[in-house]
Amino acid sequence: MTYPLKILGAAFLFNLLIISASSCEDEPFAKERQIMVEQDIKGRGIADKKILNVMLKVKRHLFVDKELQGQAYADHPLPIGEGQTISQPYVVALMTEALKLKPADRVLEIGTGSGYQAALLAEIVKEVYTIEIRKGLADMAAKRLKGLDYGNVNAKYGDGYFGWEEAAPFDAIIITAAANHIPPPLIKQLKDGGRLIIPLGSTFYYQTLTLVTKQGKELSMEQLGGVSFVPMVGKAQKR
Ligand code: SAH
Repeated sequence: MTYPLKILGAAFLFNLLIISASSCEDEPFAKERQIMVEQDIKGRGIADKKILNVMLKVKRHLFVDKELQGQAYADHPLPIGEGQTISQPYVVALMTEALKLKPADRVLEIGTGSGYQAALLAEIVKEVYTIEIRKGLADMAAKRLKGLDYGNVNAKYGDGYFGWEEAAPFDAIIITAAANHIPPPLIKQLKDGGRLIIPLGSTFYYQTLTLVTKQGKELSMEQLGGVSFVPMVGKAQKR
């Protein structure tokens, strides 16, 4: 009696394989995502294979509202509610690449927004800590990241200016909102040899994407080009 059951089991498995293979092909936006990576990410100079692979894997359309999903793979920012935006894919790739992440790293992100950047980081490193100051966005992103099974992302609601003391120090810190200075608590919470990236400058117009490396008491800075981010609010604006 076990024989037919085995055959049934095999047939079931076979069907499952066919279903998953075809759903892969039918995955909405797979083609768009591939074109985005080829043209806007690789095509504009991002060479790190790890970054290209995760940009190909993480579905940006799942991080925006249904009516905006058709634009999710165009190289521009998109609104995510409360006047905030999910950053342009190329800038996300550029910032992530600059951090030179390693698999065992622990990374802090300031400005969870949609959770897209946190998801990309979670694909690359061991642990991600992300802070969002707007409650509605914080709750939505935490729920989304949990739904997508990112068990290595710790998300909280609060002012990222102060970092995440209990989880510090971090190998890398990424600030995805514009500030006119680097919050001192974040420098403190960065490991020696760690890297921090921030859109630094006027919070009303353009900023310079700045990569900071901590070497003992010294900070070395490298400018990576002009960007335009939404402002970092909270303590960053009150100083
Ligand atoms: N990284 C996000 C996009 C960031 S948009 C993504 O992948 O979608 C910038 C975000 O920073 C906004 O959601 C804004 O509310 C948040 N923000 C601004 N000031 C902040 C602060 N002091 N602490 C934490 N988050 C902040």
